[in-house]
Amino acid sequence: MRPFTSTISLEEAKKRLESANRPIARTERVRLEDATGRVAAADVTSPIDVPPFSRSAMDGYAVLSGDTVSSTRSAPVRLRLLDRIYTGQPSSLTIERGTCAEIATGAPLPKGADAVVMVEETAQSENGTEVDVFAAAAAGQHVGRQAADIAAGDRVIAAGDVLSPARIGAIAAIGRGDVDVFAKPRVAILSTGNEVVEPGGTLKPGQIYDVNRFTLGAVVAAHGGIAEPHRAAQDTVAALVDSLDACADADLIVFSGGSSVSERDLVVDAVAARGQMIFHGIAVRPGKPTAFASIGVRNSSTPFFGMPGNPTSCLSNAYILLVPFLRALARLPPHTPRTIRVPLGRRIASAVNRHQFYTVRLRDGVAFPAFKGSGDITSLSQADGYIEIPADQSVVEEGTAVNVTLF
Ligand code: AMP
Ligand code: MG
Repeated sequence: MRPFTSTISLEEAKKRLESANRPIARTERVRLEDATGRVAAADVTSPIDVPPFSRSAMDGYAVLSGDTVSSTRSAPVRLRLLDRIYTGQPSSLTIERGTCAEIATGAPLPKGADAVVMVEETAQSENGTEVDVFAAAAAGQHVGRQAADIAAGDRVIAAGDVLSPARIGAIAAIGRGDVDVFAKPRVAILSTGNEVVEPGGTLKPGQIYDVNRFTLGAVVAAHGGIAEPHRAAQDTVAALVDSLDACADADLIVFSGGSSVSERDLVVDAVAARGQMIFHGIAVRPGKPTAFASIGVRNSSTPFFGMPGNPTSCLSNAYILLVPFLRALARLPPHTPRTIRVPLGRRIASAVNRHQFYTVRLRDGVAFPAFKGSGDITSLSQADGYIEIPADQSVVEEGTAVNVTLF
């Protein structure tokens, strides 16, 4: 056994992770149906005007605004009805002085007309050949002018934009059915440990079900990655090196377990065989035995996380370290979880000299400790969020106002 010779601070770990991050360069073309949440790889410029033609914004009558100047309810102006214009059916007629055309919302404004009077401010004659206009129409009224939304040549999407529903709508509006986006990072996920088996079967003595593969997979999928699960590896350096090789074409490799001193630093030895350790051991609780390395240093290098085996340590550090790293890799903006400030319901004594992430449950606007142990997944699954206790603080008294970061 080799004990941790030293740990680095959380800040230092974050700094090293940031400087090791190489945002993904690979791109792909996806259909708009599949574009939600993806990151645009290039500017998108419109080849057309939107709307492509001037159109009515109301159901009513296309008129010459000049004809209606004197219109009032008691002294309406009477116009001759020339045509009925429906959506998708441009009119070939020209509106001249004293005439108008019935027009539907979204239908092309006929030549000559420069305003629309809404139907509520009009009345048709009995025989349907004339229209009384009860109010003056200003030029441009209720008209959606050609190119008012987007002009040909306008940039509708900038490279790096996250494609929200509205941005996908803007791409559709200019007539494109697909968009170039950055590829989602492929994240190889692998659990280590002789005792770890797939859920679904029966446990033999000494075995436990794999938790980390699923928590890590869920985190990866939720933050812009593609989780690629691999079979759990046995606790030998040779097996771990084989596993590293099997994961070599991923954009990011995440192992769990085998990185604490009790297992002879298996991950440390495997990393030494295939790459370079960037840090191993962080002054946080839970999650101290977390490693970060670069695998395959010669031609290409793949970032590697060695997460703790304890499920709560693993997931906690996945939130704190893996999520920011993965999002930067995927070119997504930082995740900003919601926080609330509430009083603490019970005193917490914290490990000295380690930055602690302490899970809490909320009850009636008060935060109660939820942390059981690093190995207990319910420390997290039955919590609403966590508070942070800095390394230099050892006690948080009952009643203290604390900032809870919500899951
Ligand atoms: P390790 O980091 O490999 O020393 O593991 C620490 C603890 O976490 C041990 O009790 C392991 O059995 C447990 N553990 C490791 N990997 C997993 C996993 N994938 N799912 C659930 N528990 C695990
Ligand atoms: Mg293990």
